[in-house]
Amino acid sequence: MNGTLEIASPAAPTFPRGRQLLDDARLNRDTAFTESERDALGLRGLLPCRVFSIEEQVALEIEHLRRKNDALEKYIGLESLRDRNETLYFRVLVEHLEELMPIVYTPTVGQACQSFSHIIRRPHGLWITPDDQDRIPDLLRNASPHDIRLIVVTDNERILGLGDQGAGGMGIPRGKIALYCAGAGLRPEHCLPISLDVGTDNHTLLQDPMYCGYRRQRLRGAAYERFIDQFVEAVIKVFPGAVLQWEDFHKDLAFKNLQRYRHRLPSFNDDIQGTSAVAAAGIINALKVIETPLAEHRILFAGAGAAGIGIARLIRMLMESSNVPADIVRGAQAFMDTKGLVHHARTDLSADKREFAMKPDILANWDILNPDEITFEQMVEQFRPTILVGVSAQAGLFTERIIREMARHVDRPVIFALSNPNSKCECKPEDAIRWTDGRAIVATGSPFPNVNHNGKEIVIGQGNNAFIFPGLGLGAILSEAHEIDDRMLLAAAKTLALCTTRARLATGSLYPSQQELRDISFHVACAVMREARDAGYGRLLADDEIERTARDGMWFPDYVPIPETAL
Ligand code: NAD
Repeated sequence: MNGTLEIASPAAPTFPRGRQLLDDARLNRDTAFTESERDALGLRGLLPCRVFSIEEQVALEIEHLRRKNDALEKYIGLESLRDRNETLYFRVLVEHLEELMPIVYTPTVGQACQSFSHIIRRPHGLWITPDDQDRIPDLLRNASPHDIRLIVVTDNERILGLGDQGAGGMGIPRGKIALYCAGAGLRPEHCLPISLDVGTDNHTLLQDPMYCGYRRQRLRGAAYERFIDQFVEAVIKVFPGAVLQWEDFHKDLAFKNLQRYRHRLPSFNDDIQGTSAVAAAGIINALKVIETPLAEHRILFAGAGAAGIGIARLIRMLMESSNVPADIVRGAQAFMDTKGLVHHARTDLSADKREFAMKPDILANWDILNPDEITFEQMVEQFRPTILVGVSAQAGLFTERIIREMARHVDRPVIFALSNPNSKCECKPEDAIRWTDGRAIVATGSPFPNVNHNGKEIVIGQGNNAFIFPGLGLGAILSEAHEIDDRMLLAAAKTLALCTTRARLATGSLYPSQQELRDISFHVACAVMREARDAGYGRLLADDEIERTARDGMWFPDYVPIPETAL
């Protein structure tokens, strides 16, 4: 175990006994306490007599979960296991990642956020409101006696594609931390989910008598910026070694916060950067399937928000690093947003959109009179995208006409319908495949079932950010990087692409199975550590040391012997 991730031994003098021990989720083992532990720790008689192995406990928990028909009930069941026996909860997750990721994370976590005030049992993480502004360091100290190495923080304004969920947004950082621990072996006690509960503009929540959050309109403007400033300063002071993940902020604030603080502390925004790496990996893999170079592709984005701009920036970096000529790079990506085509003459564009505004010389070659009036379908006709990326949170935006038009120009249309949860997805994979007579290569953001087309079973790869952020966070922590740079994201993307075998690609999926997540996180962490070292941001470790450090730094949830001093 790497020194930086070691925790205080449970042999501390206050090691609990009896009922108190069973009530301590971090130390509890339920029926797995051995005969001698039961005697020594005052547990005799408090448990049924049979001693179970952790493998048997996992099987029993899965039996309980599968008996529940409703996904939200499964989520609640898993949360109560986490509250009762943390080691077992993570072991169940590790062994059933593919089955349980849709419960712990998208899509079910979305439902959990929406009904949060009504399903909350035991509060977790840290809640900071504007009233706490002058005492944030104290709150951080209250949150954990441990050395926090990873913080996932949200201000709840853009939860998945579901908008402002107020206090309910806490489900997201908590879910992400579950994936950090199960998927990359971070120890739960080193991780902290934080909700910056700055109010909500969601009127349904404000009118709900059970709403558990800060019942005010959202803090905005200079007051909001001061609040974030104080939060970041407090994190640097109280947890100086922590990596901070910005999560589900409104797009404008997401870009602003990332830019403002990325050099102040090791931090990244998963919606912008994690998404960019996972999408870039999918695109790299699609090119392997189609066997054409990136320089020959045109990418059309539906949605110019945090996800879309993030992906486009990393693809531009990938093109530049692959020596694609500059004039091809500048014309290779186009965006549609709520107002239509993002083009140079629009006066309403934010700086991030302006970066990708369509240039006049390209528009001049098109058969259109007014770029302000171009429809999505006309855009597909004129721009002839080879890759379509949906990050608009608009269900059904990729209509049959749009997909058929795309398929008229392209032999193998690549369609990323990434909006989450499933109810927001731009098109159903089965439709895209049917409308293109099986030629489309499809990836989604949320999980979708396999599609049977003319007797062939096609696996729909899920471009889940969980393929990237756990390994990225682990790599950044272990390399003690003082900054997280986009080169690390590109290295992570290339690594994820490599983790998808040829056999897997042949099934139709652009991504590996989620069951392989720990292995993928290990490789991503190593790539991130190498890049951090080479860029001068991280520890100077030799390649073999990097692998050893990553392997030793990954916690595997199991019951370790209780130290003799506690017995
Ligand atoms: P955002 O709010 O920052 O951006 C949404 C964008 O969609 C905006 O630019 C908006 O103008 C645009 N839009 C809305 N309606 C449109 C329409 N009819 N036509 C074209 N554009 C339209 O949100 P975001 O963070 O960019 O996320 C967008 C979606 O992508 C969400 O559903 C999110 O869950 C999903 N997402 C998926 C992944 C993944 O699969 N790995 C990762 C991140 C985000």
